[in-house]
Amino acid sequence: MTVGAVTADGRARVLADGNQLPMLGLGVWQVPNGPVCVNAVRWALELGYRHIDTAQAYGNEESVGRALRDSGVPREDVFITTKFYPGHRDPVAEAEQSLRRLGVDQVDLYLIHWPQRGPTWAWPGMERARERGLTRSIGVSNFSAADLDKVATAGTVVPAVNQVQFSPFEDRRALLAACERLNVAVEAYSPLGTGRHLSDATVRRVAQRAGRTPAHVLLRWCLQHGIPVIPKSTHRERIAENAQIFDFTLSGADMAELDALDRTRGTDRALERGWW
Ligand code: NDP
Repeated sequence: MTVGAVTADGRARVLADGNQLPMLGLGVWQVPNGPVCVNAVRWALELGYRHIDTAQAYGNEESVGRALRDSGVPREDVFITTKFYPGHRDPVAEAEQSLRRLGVDQVDLYLIHWPQRGPTWAWPGMERARERGLTRSIGVSNFSAADLDKVATAGTVVPAVNQVQFSPFEDRRALLAACERLNVAVEAYSPLGTGRHLSDATVRRVAQRAGRTPAHVLLRWCLQHGIPVIPKSTHRERIAENAQIFDFTLSGADMAELDALDRTRGTDRALERGWW
């Protein structure tokens, strides 16, 4: 498969290291460790999701692992992402802790959660984590085009993924172009705007015209730009709804109307204001 291409069934994107990132995943930020998280992940796996996005900072890796074991879905069929919390020092030691909490031998993708104290210092540790087999792929999150250039220059391998806030309202076109040039797959976090974009009048109008829901429209917009999505929900019916995005296409006119919603002026930055 060609690097950067989406597989023929539209379900995965081929990363620079040859691994495949499913186009749909369940995000679990702000989902408390315990039954709420276990249920959300279990439902997602029952409903056909094969990709879960967690992080050391979310405090719920244990529940993700428990749901995975309870589900009976084979470990090798599920793509698990976790993220190095960059307030800590050692990506290898923290990956080992994540694996213990998740109850797995290896994750599929390990990301630097944000470029705290600069974009390059943690990358050698991320490369070591991969060399030791703690993760199949390594990448970054919340990295601007300039941050990525620094990592690409300093490192042995280029990050396979940059997970950033991306939606019609945060259409970071210059960042997307910079990532494509380096063969870095952009992955969309907060594709529903943490819920805020669902009530937008344009999104609702496009949804009505397409006979779909606002969530479908926002998620499908990313897919049609070749960008994997990781919507979060703790409600079974919404988790099911968010998976129904492979059976329709937004028209060129719908896509153009959504493209025009961008508020970032096509920025190459990952965020307008960092929280770190
Ligand atoms: P999303 O953009 O996925 O939106 C989630 C919100 O929308 C929740 O309030 C949810 O409510 C609601 N919702 C979900 N589906 C529907 C639906 N079909 N209809 C109506 N409401 C719906 O939010 P997130 O900001 O959580 O982003 C998704 C994931 O991205 C995170 O969980 C995390 O994994 C990742 N992320 C990564 C970051 C990073 O720094 N790398 C930063 C932020 C997010 P409810 O749960 O009550 O159903």
